[in-house]
Amino acid sequence: MRCSKCKERAIAYLKPYRIALCGKCYPEFYLRLVERSVKKYGILKRKERILACVSGGKDSSAMVVALKMLGFNVEILHIDLGIGDYSKKSRKIVEELAEGIDVPFHVVELAEYGFTIDGVDVKKVCSVCGTAKRYLMNRFARENGFDVIATGHTAEDIILFFFKNVLSGGIEWIPKLVPRSEGGGGFVSKARPLFERSEKENILFVLAEGIPFLADECPHAPRDAWKEIIYDIEAKRPGFKQNFVRGLVRLAKNVKVDENWELRRCKVCGEPSSSEVCAFCRYVMKFKK
Ligand code: SF4
Ligand code: ZN
Repeated sequence: MRCSKCKERAIAYLKPYRIALCGKCYPEFYLRLVERSVKKYGILKRKERILACVSGGKDSSAMVVALKMLGFNVEILHIDLGIGDYSKKSRKIVEELAEGIDVPFHVVELAEYGFTIDGVDVKKVCSVCGTAKRYLMNRFARENGFDVIATGHTAEDIILFFFKNVLSGGIEWIPKLVPRSEGGGGFVSKARPLFERSEKENILFVLAEGIPFLADECPHAPRDAWKEIIYDIEAKRPGFKQNFVRGLVRLAKNVKVDENWELRRCKVCGEPSSSEVCAFCRYVMKFKK
């Protein structure tokens, strides 16, 4: 298979775009796709100070390099969750990546708050981890004057989230499944520049650009049958993932948000919260050794 642009040997055929690309032409193609999404949905602004949350996996690594190459004012935040060797390796890779692309590197350790993800003895570890990550990134971004937090969520992540929440009756989450949500009341705006990108597109970019990333999976990651279902649909209907997330943007605008809940301040840490004590502080009380 030959590259549709330069006729060199192609590294991949991208069905949704009906194009084959080589390792040299692919990064430029990928950057234009990211740039197009950012413009189309107003995901990021040139003057904004962006905090990119980078775990060390392929998606967030691809995101921060793409944003840097597109000329955005970006810095990296890595959250050390205390997941044994996995966290040690992730942190080292993100440090190496930040140095390689000359982007300021910041790290927050969950252990500073008295517990680690490895020490959480509940079934739904990922739910605790998700709450901790959202809390720590928002707090760090606000306290350090960032305008927006960028995360490496992919089209697959968004679709998974949609399926799981709709199946458990949680449609109030739908308005959050958008490429950018504006902040306020102590919350920093959230941007998802890879909203329309697939995991395959991201991995091709990191491989073609030689970007360091951690291929290991978190030892707590649940096996997700839904992801396989999404891949199966995509294989039968190329372009399904992108069309689905684009549809979600329109759907999100039409789902009424419950405006009756009151935003308060957590009486322990002072962060914005919907309850007297925020979910993160409740976990700290429960798991602190
Ligand atoms: Fe956290 Fe779960 Fe992701 Fe591991 S798989 S980093 S525990 S959310
Ligand atoms: Zn709190």
